[in-house]
Amino acid sequence: MDRPRPPVVEPGPERPPVPPPSDAVVLFDGKDLQQWQAENGGAAKWVVRDGYLEVAPHTGAIQTKRGFGDVQLHLEWAAPLPAAGEGQDRGNSGVFLMTRYEVQVLDSYHSDTYADGQAAAVYGQTPPLVNACRPPGQWQTYDIIFHRPRFASDGAVRDSARVTVLHNGVLVQDNTIITGWTVHGQRAHYAPHADRLPLQLQDHGHPVRYRDIWIRELREHE
Ligand code: MG
Repeated sequence: MDRPRPPVVEPGPERPPVPPPSDAVVLFDGKDLQQWQAENGGAAKWVVRDGYLEVAPHTGAIQTKRGFGDVQLHLEWAAPLPAAGEGQDRGNSGVFLMTRYEVQVLDSYHSDTYADGQAAAVYGQTPPLVNACRPPGQWQTYDIIFHRPRFASDGAVRDSARVTVLHNGVLVQDNTIITGWTVHGQRAHYAPHADRLPLQLQDHGHPVRYRDIWIRELREHE
């Protein structure tokens, strides 16, 4: 809690979504959860309504049926309005790349929490460069460029994962090294895993909304 908080930047007003690029895999276009399932493999139980997807609290995370490695990801999210709770208990969800590496989703608009737990933090590791949150109820964008970790055949980490994030168009993670699987209150470590794993969205018990989710697979070079 003593770590300094990133400065606040006003990102400008929310904007309507724009169509995805032609080579994007559309993961959610406002209509259905065809691309998704529950984290335990059953049907995804989150609510689709009026063109958005809403966390059905305590039904569990959802994840893509497909796996992905290096990607460019776009999504939009909105924290509940009226806002309820504070700190980590306020509009909490999360974007888990490869089901392991969380870019935090949280209502950090005029709401304090520890620096590496706020919106657009690599959770538990690296705070965002600035706090570019919009108010709860407004749509916010994440544009994420992620490079997966590379493991040697003996399981040693050859290259750590890296992530760049723009929050509402503002650079908040600049090729940040991810130090291991997302954990709470301890130092992260890697354990080897597959080259492609699903994208997961976290159920933290709050009715956070998502829309306009698309992903581009990046050509991987070893
Ligand atoms: Mg979270």
